[in-house]
Amino acid sequence: MNTDTQLQFVTTTHPTRTSPEQIAASIATPMFGRVFTDHMVTIRWTDALGWHDAKVEARRPFQIDPACAVLHYAQEIFEGMKAYRGEDGAISLFRPLENARRFRASAARMSMADLPEAVFLQAVEALVAIDRDWVPGGNGSLYLRPFMFASENFLGVRASSEYVFCVIACPVGPYFKAGKTAVNVWVSDQYTRAAPGGTGAAKCGGNYAASLIAQTEASEKGCDQVVFLDAAEHRWIEELGGMNVFFVMDDGSLLTPPLSGTILPGITRASIIELAKREGIAVRETPYAFDTWRTDAASGRVKEVFACGTAAVVTAIGQVRHADGEFTIGHGDEGEVTRHIRTLLTGIQRGKIADPFGWVHRVK
Ligand SMILES: *Cc1c(COP(=O)(O)O)cnc(C)c1O
Repeated sequence: MNTDTQLQFVTTTHPTRTSPEQIAASIATPMFGRVFTDHMVTIRWTDALGWHDAKVEARRPFQIDPACAVLHYAQEIFEGMKAYRGEDGAISLFRPLENARRFRASAARMSMADLPEAVFLQAVEALVAIDRDWVPGGNGSLYLRPFMFASENFLGVRASSEYVFCVIACPVGPYFKAGKTAVNVWVSDQYTRAAPGGTGAAKCGGNYAASLIAQTEASEKGCDQVVFLDAAEHRWIEELGGMNVFFVMDDGSLLTPPLSGTILPGITRASIIELAKREGIAVRETPYAFDTWRTDAASGRVKEVFACGTAAVVTAIGQVRHADGEFTIGHGDEGEVTRHIRTLLTGIQRGKIADPFGWVHRVK
């Protein structure tokens, strides 16, 4: 069993690396998750050897046996994080150890191998370093996707005895259509994302598979995202398909649903809570009912609502549609508090504003 906190990576550079001109072209108009960098990191795990065979290599397809466990029982988890290029050209990550910790928590919930935080960070940094030319400047970033899947060829129902950990990366621009100041959301009255005792707090692919039908319904209703309510009462607001949610009240305070085990503990969410408190903005982590939201939006008690996550950063919610109608939040566009929080957070992430928290992690 390998108990070292660091692994030795064997690096093989891509035989035909993308030219600087081609990289520049892909970075100029990055579509979310369509164009990938030249390399990937892989590390294997087996019961007998622990973590081993750590590689930085040319990005290539996996060879998967039809009996590969992940294809049948969905033992798979992932992370989402970004590398930013500052105005001085330096590249940094935002709170990467939080991703590493959450990855371990997700693995534990899904009965998967435990990847040490130091190795997770080593892998992510190795990929950013070799593909550093792909990190866009300006408002773009390099989206990093660490993930792990069960790779044993076996159809019995039990935890796999083999896993593959991998990191890939793609240059990205805004998650939502550029120029859109607020998104519309559909409140799903039929489908839920997570139930108590389930996997809602783990970042696993299965949660997303189960949420896609509601996302399709949202698109049919002309909405960009789904708001999920709790599974037991269909009453309490939980989160969006892949983002947490904040309400700005008329006294300037923030409200967000508490981490009850059915909500994904977003690092953006946690950062906004800390950032707001430092700004003297009160934050309450309290359950909030959909009916109350509707009443509060009408009375003006709720002034702004925003979604947050690594991909979407901070995005205002303008319109809310549900089975019995729709309502508008404030003026239907980005409000003052949302803009303030977004400016602060992105400012710290991109090194434009001093980081008083020690969140920014330089990549050498
Ligand atoms: C990843 C994710 C988030 C946001 O987490 P961040 O760490 O802020 O990127 C929120 N909800 C769900 C369901 C997620 O998968």
